[in-house]
Amino acid sequence: MKLNNQEYYEKDKENYLQVFKRLPVTFTSGNGSKLYDAEGNEYIDALAGIAVNNVGHSHPKLVKAIQEQTSRLMHISNFFTSDKQVELSELLTSLSQMDNVFLCNSGAEAVEAAIKLARKYAYSQNRGGTILSFKSCFHGRTLGTIATGKRKMQEGFDPIPGGFKQLPAQDIALVKESIDEDIAGILIEPVQGEGGIQPADKNFLKALRKLCDDNKLALIFDEVQCGIGRTGYWFAKDYYGVEPDIMSLAKGLGGGFPIGAVLSNQKIGNSIDYGDHGTTFGGNPLACAAAISCLNIIDSENLLIESRMKGEWLRNKIKQINEPSIREVRGLGLMIGIEFDFPTKALMMEMFKRKVIVNATAGNVLRIVPPLNISKEDLEVLVETMIECIPIAKAEEIKV
Ligand code: PLP
Repeated sequence: MKLNNQEYYEKDKENYLQVFKRLPVTFTSGNGSKLYDAEGNEYIDALAGIAVNNVGHSHPKLVKAIQEQTSRLMHISNFFTSDKQVELSELLTSLSQMDNVFLCNSGAEAVEAAIKLARKYAYSQNRGGTILSFKSCFHGRTLGTIATGKRKMQEGFDPIPGGFKQLPAQDIALVKESIDEDIAGILIEPVQGEGGIQPADKNFLKALRKLCDDNKLALIFDEVQCGIGRTGYWFAKDYYGVEPDIMSLAKGLGGGFPIGAVLSNQKIGNSIDYGDHGTTFGGNPLACAAAISCLNIIDSENLLIESRMKGEWLRNKIKQINEPSIREVRGLGLMIGIEFDFPTKALMMEMFKRKVIVNATAGNVLRIVPPLNISKEDLEVLVETMIECIPIAKAEEIKV
């Protein structure tokens, strides 16, 4: 099938379940931080599949690893292990300094597994299973993960599973007050992604760690979006110097190939028995080969340092713009949020028209999460395009 952008767009509307409000473009290929649409137009991709393509599109080493593994072995059952799964498990436990890993296929699955691990540990401690989460969090779209989040995402899907309680962000006194024998664990994104790129306060995370230690609760870090080099560290926990008991990963782990992971420490691992959890596809040799390759590329191409340095450079550059509608520039590494005093949807659209892809989140925030190996030239074009589009977008917003 070879159609133009608009024709693909129409066909998608005819056939695909309409849960995504899409832009009228269809991408057919990518290379590094560039995407190409059905009509051959080139775009700078500063969204990277929402923090997924950390090593860029079609990185030759990642492509080769996937091609080679495809011709060798794609899938076996979890009655057996595979060389690639053993290798990836060792790599992840050694990079994270955590004790064990379970592999799955997506972020929401990784968070679901994290919730199960926390509850099983709580059960072993004669505690209840309630999970505390925080305002503006996002942990996925399964029933369990929407139970942690906004009412808006839950509407129409009642009954929502019980055993979840959401608290205001960063208020340690309120967290303390909420702890009783029914609480199993605390679930938090060290840097909120969908919530508008909101890095947690270091002291807040340290205080959560202590509360969890004192009360035998599981501290769960959801690093699905902020993990795998995004913040300039393998994991955001390394920036904060706070160790969770359980950590969920996905997005950047496979560099575009679907894979998720949940890591935990021995304390949690000890409460898990054969048969407690499972998956058919999770951790299959093909996904593992992709993840191994992706982690090796990040390491050999110094992408943690690149992420840190380019992120700092970009944040400083944006801070220097003389634009009163910019309220705040925040983030870590190449996980950047620019908060404006107007909704950013029109700004995202104007930039998109000029072939620069970013994303509007949490109302007034422009989210920039490009491949970690994006060039400074591309980031410069991004900034220039944004400056050009701000007055147009502001005028659009006023019209609306
Ligand atoms: N957790 C966080 C922090 C996320 O940002 C996301 C997705 O945006 C998820 C979980 C869900 O991941 P997935 O869409 O792969 O299920």
